[in-house]
Amino acid sequence: MRIQVLTIFPELFEPFLGTSLVGRAIENGLLEVRVFDLREFTEDKHRSVDDEPYGGGGGMVMTAPPFLHAVEELGRTEGARGKSHNAWRILLSPQGEPLAEAKVRELARRPDLLLLCGRYEGIDERVRQTVVDEEISLGDFVLSGGELPAMAVIEAVSRQVPGVIGLADSVEHDSFRHGLLDHPHYTRPREVRGLEVPAVLLGGNHAEIADWRRRQALCATIEKRPDLLATAELSASQRREAEAIARKLGTSIPESLQPGK
Ligand code: SAM
Repeated sequence: MRIQVLTIFPELFEPFLGTSLVGRAIENGLLEVRVFDLREFTEDKHRSVDDEPYGGGGGMVMTAPPFLHAVEELGRTEGARGKSHNAWRILLSPQGEPLAEAKVRELARRPDLLLLCGRYEGIDERVRQTVVDEEISLGDFVLSGGELPAMAVIEAVSRQVPGVIGLADSVEHDSFRHGLLDHPHYTRPREVRGLEVPAVLLGGNHAEIADWRRRQALCATIEKRPDLLATAELSASQRREAEAIARKLGTSIPESLQPGK
């Protein structure tokens, strides 16, 4: 899988791309990430990428031509036997679809992503209108640039690439994978501030441990994110179990678990 990034701050990506799982995935050839300085695609001697907004007002706006030139140059890939394909062009923007697990998995199935990072007041609207396939947001808040959201996309997508996470099992139980939150995790020491590791995890009975973890995942979801239960992949018996847990926890049974939902 290949991801290209267009930014005026390529140096922000250096430590990120050389560290931890993403760094190793790149080193092992599982992921190719190339970061381009938008100023390389300017044509004036000052290499300017922004200008004053039409209509007045404060702040600067990123101009369209450098983005358009860059997308033209980077957006097509020559494949085998002369076949070429377009990279999927994503504009990081607070106005886009908030990034969530389903979107991450969808993006991970694309072989080629091109991430466009804005700064200042944003990018000339005609970039979005002419060369962007999709706008993606990190959430309902405004950052100063698209670089952190681009890194979030890279890291989340890379976890879906086979071989990037050592144990496929650890992704399998990640929060949101099947619509539930993950179960709690424990490690040494056995006791922390008077709190013992649950006995079942010390007993070595794998079936009991799996059962406990499944129940704990349900508890965490009911307590912290009951909204997820509406779309979680639950069998009829798991649904009954979730209802029983909700009753035991003294929380009202989430609407999504009520009969007929
Ligand atoms: N004026 C714009 C607005 O309110 O919609 C915000 C511009 S923001 C200061 C500059 C750039 O940061 C944006 O062009 C975008 O690339 C990036 N950005 C800011 N918040 C973001 C978010 N929540 N998700 C993704 N990108 C974001």
